[in-house]
Amino acid sequence: MTIVRDRLAAIRGVEPADVERAAEVNYARLFHKRKDIPGAVAYALKGNIYINVTRACTNNCAFCLRNRRDNFFYGYNLNLAVDPTAGEMVEAATALAREGRHGEIVFCGYGEPTCRAADVLEAARALKSLGLPLRLDTNGHGNMINRRDIVPELAGVFAGVSISLNAHDRASYARLCRPDAGEKAFDAVLDFIRRAAASRMACAVTVLDCPGVDVEACRALVSSIPRARFRVRTFYKE
Ligand code: SF4
Repeated sequence: MTIVRDRLAAIRGVEPADVERAAEVNYARLFHKRKDIPGAVAYALKGNIYINVTRACTNNCAFCLRNRRDNFFYGYNLNLAVDPTAGEMVEAATALAREGRHGEIVFCGYGEPTCRAADVLEAARALKSLGLPLRLDTNGHGNMINRRDIVPELAGVFAGVSISLNAHDRASYARLCRPDAGEKAFDAVLDFIRRAAASRMACAVTVLDCPGVDVEACRALVSSIPRARFRVRTFYKE
């Protein structure tokens, strides 16, 4: 069994303990009908701490899993009834960080963290004292959502930002990511990427290798932006 666990962990790029936890929780849900697994405000995965900021998003991507009734991820229940406060994010991440074995703290969610930019910044400033690098996972709509350039504020506290792009032009972005703002969202994302890449933050631009995404066209686009690093993420349906 450990061979299967370790192989699966290597394929998925996680730790064996992550596979073990997912198997245990799925077993309990499937065979013991466990429904009392509490929602995770912060969780440990792949050697990092992830903060589940929100389920709200300004996109409705064709490949997004957040609208499923049950959102369990490697054994963590990511369905929160309400978004956590900044204090709850700090408390949950701090408790995990005390274990002393994590590489970075990532603000993410099955949603867009910059919908809650003020709370994210408040929590990030508090967590900075832990000494772990902070990263923000975002769809790049932050400036559009907050109607101002939030990149300098982010750069004041985050070491890195990871921006999901998934499209190489306006029409593809509108078709795949289905943004609330329509076709203008693509330009806003590119502008956000350029500003983030020009800041002191390490800037990664990601695409999923799922049907409909032209990975090579995205790669060419990102390569034209100084200091932006391109990364392809593997798409898993479940
Ligand atoms: S940007 Fe992310 S959270 Fe939002 S709909 Fe797309 S995949 Fe889902």
